[in-house]
Amino acid sequence: MLTATTRKGKSITLARLSKQDITQLRQTESFVCPACKSEVIIKAGNIITPHFAHVSEAECPERTGGEGEYHYQGKLLLYEWFKRQGINVLLEHYLSDIQQRPDLLIQIKNRKIAIEFQCAKVNSQTIYQRNIGYQRANIIPIWILGANLFKRKSTHHIQLNRFLTSFIHQFSRTHPTTLFFFCPEKQQFSFVQDIIFTTNHKALAKQTFTPMYDISFNHFFLKKTFSKSELFTLWNNELKSFRLGKRPNFGQERAWRTWLYEKGLHIDHLPTYIYLPIRSQYKMNVPLWIWQSRVLLDFLPRVSQHKIFHLNEVERFLQRFIKKKVDEQLIRASHNPIEEYLSVLCEFSLLKQLDDVTFVQQQSLTFYKQIEEALDGDTELLFRFMYNEGNK
Ligand SMILES: [Zn+2]
Repeated sequence: MLTATTRKGKSITLARLSKQDITQLRQTESFVCPACKSEVIIKAGNIITPHFAHVSEAECPERTGGEGEYHYQGKLLLYEWFKRQGINVLLEHYLSDIQQRPDLLIQIKNRKIAIEFQCAKVNSQTIYQRNIGYQRANIIPIWILGANLFKRKSTHHIQLNRFLTSFIHQFSRTHPTTLFFFCPEKQQFSFVQDIIFTTNHKALAKQTFTPMYDISFNHFFLKKTFSKSELFTLWNNELKSFRLGKRPNFGQERAWRTWLYEKGLHIDHLPTYIYLPIRSQYKMNVPLWIWQSRVLLDFLPRVSQHKIFHLNEVERFLQRFIKKKVDEQLIRASHNPIEEYLSVLCEFSLLKQLDDVTFVQQQSLTFYKQIEEALDGDTELLFRFMYNEGNK
């Protein structure tokens, strides 16, 4: 930990003191952990950030083990960054009512925000509990991930896992989904926004990299999203790799293949609508094509053309593909992936929306005869959608 208290209750951050001061303190003062009140000792040397360590950590509710240099540096840099902007900020302030100690606690007007700089993979239950605590104390948590956890695949692609996904923020319905990263070595923020899953572990996202001192905290709330034409141009490539790419032949994917095969179908034949981008895909437990194909090939034939159907019928039909519990606690907006999908199908004129929850199928589905036709068909459909149906 960077900050501890003296026996008299004064809060001391070693990293903000000179070497001489630290040497003097070592001889004259003793320190305790603000959380468990047990003794802590000074750790300082030439190459490490001066900090405190428990003599014995066993009883501490705020176990700080696993904090390395990267984490210390990051915390201090972020602390200075907020301070420079004139923002009221506390480093490792202990909140006794919820027994938590956020890396930084800032206050803007009467709103409290806890900033956590997370550089190590920890049990997701720990993160969950912390967020619950903040919620109880009416504090907004913002988790900034260490850039060491960022897995960039290309200009527009990132790799995700369940751990990273649980840190996706969405401050309101009109904000894009966002992941925040910070690299203390480069002193740089990376913002990953408008995250659109393409497979279980890959997503399209807007990525911005900015030196920390070029921006202020307001930048955390900027809304960068893909325009409709950008998204559908990128999606054309996704469809192409969906049709041509090598795919795993186990688990969900294998079961889906078998299901297709039993229908006498192959990926080459499937209509373009089978794999369309949906922003709230994180709520589903299977990749896009698995549940979208069920809607097109099982649900729609069941209601048949020109018969009215309701959103909740589709939801009921897809029940087993919807996550029971969503890990993404930091997403404050409620979006419905199925509703989103139906409304995209309306934009493509496959369906027509009669009111908020009622739909009717307007056209029959066409299946492609072979792969070349499918690839051309995908491109044509996406481009028609982008340019004829009004651009965002
Ligand atoms: Zn302690």
